[in-house]
Amino acid sequence: MAKAVDAAKLPDKLRVRPGARIVLREPAARATHGWRKADAERALERNRHELGALQYRMYAGGHHALLVVLQAMDTAGKDSTIRHVMTAFNPQGCTVHAFKAPNDLERQYDYLWRAHRCVPPRGSIAVFNRSHYEDVLVVRVSQLAPRAVWQRRYRHINEFERLLADCDTRVVKIFLHVSKAEQKRRLEERLEDPKKHWKWDAADLDKRRQWRDYMQAYQAVLTRCSTAHAPWYAVPADRKWFRNFAVSQILLNELRALAPKLPKVELDPDSYRIF
Ligand code: AMP
Ligand code: MG
Repeated sequence: MAKAVDAAKLPDKLRVRPGARIVLREPAARATHGWRKADAERALERNRHELGALQYRMYAGGHHALLVVLQAMDTAGKDSTIRHVMTAFNPQGCTVHAFKAPNDLERQYDYLWRAHRCVPPRGSIAVFNRSHYEDVLVVRVSQLAPRAVWQRRYRHINEFERLLADCDTRVVKIFLHVSKAEQKRRLEERLEDPKKHWKWDAADLDKRRQWRDYMQAYQAVLTRCSTAHAPWYAVPADRKWFRNFAVSQILLNELRALAPKLPKVELDPDSYRIF
């Protein structure tokens, strides 16, 4: 087996270079970059501790915010990633927002309105389970808007994320790349296991039928919207243990780069006596 890529260098391998033409190939979804399950599970545990410590400083410092966007085909594991990785964070400083088809109120505004309302305040983390990217994914594939309408959205989105970056919000976007073959297995599991029946959504099959169109739409997103100020990462998601570890390592590198510091406080502890 190939030597494992250094944990700290892994995110660099998964980050989409701005302007790079991305082609999503099935085998890439199974990649593990030389990692083995037991090592990845241990590394995830270590990463969770450090993520918690970094979040503590970010919260206390109140300078930066972190927005994590999760996008993927059904069954790739957005919810499960949130459960395994984001639980590293204190709920007090982290919110999760799931974006479904827009409701009546949301439809009365521009499509970025509902996303902008949910961005994290300084010191906090927000996780988007689906996001404003659906407006160039499902909207494009299912032709919910004319081509001319969704075409200009890539530019809006890049500019929206630039605004957030300029205002101290780091935007980190993660595509969980599951293969069509692995999705088949996971959908079959949902049918076989009564405890998973609640997850069954016949509409997932329509999306599966449109797989090629979705891959094209995702390729366009990764190619056009990965920027230095708001990068996309493509994470192989066929192996759950690698997916969880890789996401934790991406967030860890990103938070380390923000280098959050405890606020400087002028306090002379000797001047107080607790009665
Ligand atoms: P789930 O994440 O499985 O609960 O499904 C949420 C559904 O909402 C998915 O089928 C998305 O494609 C859909 N959705 C999310 N955002 C939009 C949007 N802007 N327009 C239309 N459908 C959307
Ligand atoms: Mg679903």
